[in-house]
Amino acid sequence: MTTSLMTRIAAKRDDLIQLTQDLIRIPTLNPPGENYQAICDYLDKRLSAHGLQTQLIRAFGTPGDSEKYPRWNIIARRDGAHTGDCVHFNSHTDVVEVGAGWTFDPFGGEIANGNIYGRGACDMKGGLAASIIAAEAFIEEHPDFHGAIEISGTADEESGGYGGVAYLAEHGHFSPENVQHVIIPEPLNKDRICLGHRGGWWAEIETKGEIAHGSMPFLGDCAVRHMGAVIGEFEDKLFPAMAARITDMPVVPEGAKQSTMNINSIHGGQKEQDDDFDGLPAHCVPDSCRIVIDRRFLVEEPLDQVRSEVKGLLEGLRETRPDFNYEMTELNSVLPSMTDKSAPVVETVAQAIEDVMGKAPEYVASPGTYDQKHIDRIGKLKNCIAYGPGILELAHKPDEYIGIDDMLDSAKVMGASLETLLLPNKN
Ligand SMILES: [Zn+2]
Repeated sequence: MTTSLMTRIAAKRDDLIQLTQDLIRIPTLNPPGENYQAICDYLDKRLSAHGLQTQLIRAFGTPGDSEKYPRWNIIARRDGAHTGDCVHFNSHTDVVEVGAGWTFDPFGGEIANGNIYGRGACDMKGGLAASIIAAEAFIEEHPDFHGAIEISGTADEESGGYGGVAYLAEHGHFSPENVQHVIIPEPLNKDRICLGHRGGWWAEIETKGEIAHGSMPFLGDCAVRHMGAVIGEFEDKLFPAMAARITDMPVVPEGAKQSTMNINSIHGGQKEQDDDFDGLPAHCVPDSCRIVIDRRFLVEEPLDQVRSEVKGLLEGLRETRPDFNYEMTELNSVLPSMTDKSAPVVETVAQAIEDVMGKAPEYVASPGTYDQKHIDRIGKLKNCIAYGPGILELAHKPDEYIGIDDMLDSAKVMGASLETLLLPNKN
């Protein structure tokens, strides 16, 4: 890495702070997907002024896209003076709901203790800002670089990325002919390289019963008791089996090295009434009970096996439990993704971390999925990692923040990586 680029990045501290605050102050809540156009317009202005060519792309017809909540994305590109590889930084612009427990204004971008606070500060507007500063500083320092730099701000990562990276990948924006290296600045800590993520499988299970008067439950069939039996099977068989499966993937935190499942929700019997209803419930045997399960699986587990394991337990109940009847609806699935440790982007960023921070990087994999899945499966681009500032555990929590020094350090790592990948004498 050149010290002049590092000095240049360090000198952009105030700009970085302002940029991060500006991004946090645009409340891009998803759902429903608010202000995507506003944040794309902001990025358009910013990046155009720094000599990047911008394209605003709406993901028409993707889940949630409407005139009220259009799914806007931006891709900005700067071509160098010579041919060469394209390095793409991809950040999602959406943030999750605020939730309770904040002591800072969630959209204020307030500064305290060297941190900037706000919803999306670490996940991942701080990472987006760091990548912009790195790219701008690199272009100023080496205007005659080889290849190209792209920066994208994409919608809907928090709801699956279908109106964002998936859409762009379907339209060729992540094909290996157009893009050679992808860095996603998700908050994985500034000295860690995230190689990929576990898979996910989501399904709804409904047990069926028969409605009857609550004083004579024997005349009906209680769907909630049937669901109790389902959860009992999960407790007795599925959870212990999952706990025994440990992956070779470097997943963090430690608890996510095993297969896991969350039961997201349970609904049985009468619909819940509005909060202002103060009447009493009617006496009925519930004829339906539904749960949604969120099963996270390992690179060692085939998706078919994940499905059939749950199905097998339900079929077992059908054989042994009188009147047991169910329906299972698959909601979504995502396969695990893992980039090879010897991939060029991994080796480059690893060396940059060592140069900037004086220590070898830690290699990790994410417990949850992120947009790498679309770049891998749809784009067919394998040379992709997540690398960015911020503490993963703060994501989606109250008083989420990003450390200013951490953003600067990771911007330096990104800048040093650009020097390796886009300057000929460095290769
Ligand atoms: Zn994120």
